[in-house]
Amino acid sequence: MYIKKQRLLTPGPTPLYPPALHAMMASDIHHRTEDFRKAYRACLAGLKEVMGTAHDVLLFASSGTGAMDATVSNLFSKGDKVVVCVAGKFGERWAEIAKAYGLDAQVITVPYGQVVRPEQVHGALEREPATRGVFVQASETSTGAAHDVEAIAAAVRPTQAILVVDAITGLGTMPLDIDGWGLDVVIGGSQKAFMIPPGLAFMSISPKAWKFADSATLPHYYFNLKKEKKSGDAGESSWTPATSLILALAEALQYVKQVGMPHLIENAQLLAEATRAAIRGLGLELFAAAAPGSSVTAVKAPAGMDSGVIVKEFRNRFGAIIANGQGSMKGQIFRIAHLGYFDFADLFAVIAELEIILNANGFPVSYGTGVAAVQRIYERAAVLPQTVAV
Ligand SMILES: *Cc1c(COP(=O)(O)O)cnc(C)c1O
Repeated sequence: MYIKKQRLLTPGPTPLYPPALHAMMASDIHHRTEDFRKAYRACLAGLKEVMGTAHDVLLFASSGTGAMDATVSNLFSKGDKVVVCVAGKFGERWAEIAKAYGLDAQVITVPYGQVVRPEQVHGALEREPATRGVFVQASETSTGAAHDVEAIAAAVRPTQAILVVDAITGLGTMPLDIDGWGLDVVIGGSQKAFMIPPGLAFMSISPKAWKFADSATLPHYYFNLKKEKKSGDAGESSWTPATSLILALAEALQYVKQVGMPHLIENAQLLAEATRAAIRGLGLELFAAAAPGSSVTAVKAPAGMDSGVIVKEFRNRFGAIIANGQGSMKGQIFRIAHLGYFDFADLFAVIAELEIILNANGFPVSYGTGVAAVQRIYERAAVLPQTVAV
């Protein structure tokens, strides 16, 4: 038996930022006290700052899906016409939520690995001018593809519809100019690029979207955006907050601000670029080759090999938890994450491990091919001087 460290390398939950983890130990705090309000206010202000928006930001004690649900139940009415972009499992989730609440959804579906084109959204809006909302993923974590959010926003902005962006893995991995592009609702989650455990969701909300809250008639109780806004302005949450996670988020946001959001994004982009280079170098194929995002890279398993074997081998041989495909992609692809607290040292290890696993499972590669591709990108990017070490 040798030492094998467990490493969580999935696109949510992601590796934890150690000082944030330590901050959680101060959770014996009451949430209606000035000490806690300080942390809560720091989270709201910090989120606004790193998201780069002047819009209101709201926080919820839920996983990311809670904020997706809250958006629909607070801003829409039964029978409202909406357009839903479906490019993977998370797009399907938008369609399911819309259906659950009785919205009249025009669903644009593209095959897994591809993205909905802005012209398709434009066309859907032209076909149905009464459309009140457009739903999309910035980064479709299930396939590794990223939407052209800026161009989609340009199609939605002149209409009466609001654009709702699930940026749960988009934030911190791709530029999102919320105010400049006119992104009405932008949703994030704690367990992705924000480097803390699951359990917090948050969203920015534009003045255009707030107007929808005035006329929306769908029932809701726990997730109440207007109530949450009022509480947030007083430095509190409406209900008992996830205290430990708020303390962790306040700490993690300090770090994100120190690194700088543009550098956090560049970090993910570089790791994604290096991963693609390594994968091609090893003779493997990318799943979302046409529009690869930087939150996660989805790789096709070699012909005749179940991707579950690769995932299992990572865990058994190296204690590394990487992601299989979801739904019908299970067994077909495996996914290497880049969002949040990932660095080049993580990637060197992942690619070296992958080379060993491929060799051991009937797909011969010469050692170092993939690793060298990552090293070249590391060298070119000269990341060392900019990196903030902890
Ligand atoms: C992780 C994720 C979600 C949220 O899932 P939860 O399990 O509810 O946190 C939503 N959309 C995308 C694109 C995601 O990656």
